[in-house]
Amino acid sequence: MELIQADNLSIKYPNSDVPVIVNTSFNVAKNEIFVLVGPSGCGKSTILQAIAGFISSDGVLKMNGETITGPDWQRGVVFQNSSLYPWLTVKDNVGFGLKVRKFPQKKIDSRVRYLLDLIGLSDQSQTKTFELSGGMRQRVAIARVLANNSPLLLMDEPFGALDAFTRAKMQGLILDIWRKEKTSIFMITHDLNEAIRCGNRIAIMNSHDKRIVKIMDNPFQDT
Ligand code: ADP
Ligand code: ADP
Repeated sequence: MELIQADNLSIKYPNSDVPVIVNTSFNVAKNEIFVLVGPSGCGKSTILQAIAGFISSDGVLKMNGETITGPDWQRGVVFQNSSLYPWLTVKDNVGFGLKVRKFPQKKIDSRVRYLLDLIGLSDQSQTKTFELSGGMRQRVAIARVLANNSPLLLMDEPFGALDAFTRAKMQGLILDIWRKEKTSIFMITHDLNEAIRCGNRIAIMNSHDKRIVKIMDNPFQDT
């Protein structure tokens, strides 16, 4: 079943006459990790933002058969530098959205406990997030999005600001989370190694065609 359907998608920013994306088509299937890879500036983030519903596009762009018209809880976004609430604890950052939606405190506590275990931060539950390392902050950002149970996780260069060692650990963590939570992931990266490590399917853009030029099953996938 297709989760995201994009047909002849074109995208132009309101402040410019030149389109950034022209007539690109792709689908994201339920439960897959779809990785979009390409050089900086080729338009990856623009496509992600259209899926998120932050910017408008021409052509067909649907989730579960319904046209995407704006941001909503069904598509959670993790950015390269996701901003957390620095003075709140790890636990309160992760549970924030559930609290806003008035979930009972007991439900929030158990969901947050589960997620902190999932991301390996149970011991930092009471730590304020400004005290965390970059890798830990990204873990919290991921858990905060997972708390909403969004069927699709959009990741915009999620590990781009991390050192190589932390980055490799985070790639492993994402694969763990994906196996346990059965979530669908659309991730963009300029790092081919990251695409090969994480993708079920890999979509490639270059710096001049303004569209995805190839989509393939990951030939190096070990699962
Ligand atoms: P990538 O994610 O692959 O690095 P982007 O999608 O961020 O690429 O950028 C693609 C192109 O769109 C670039 O030429 C960039 O300058 C342009 N662009 C990005 N954001 C905006 C914006 N808000 N307004 C106008 N042009 C933009
Ligand atoms: P408790 O006994 O502490 O309530 P549960 O096993 O019922 O613990 O899980 C607590 C919360 O964690 C649940 O409300 C559920 O949302 C979440 N949860 C538990 N297991 C999973 C799972 N496999 N996938 C997604 N969420 C889970």
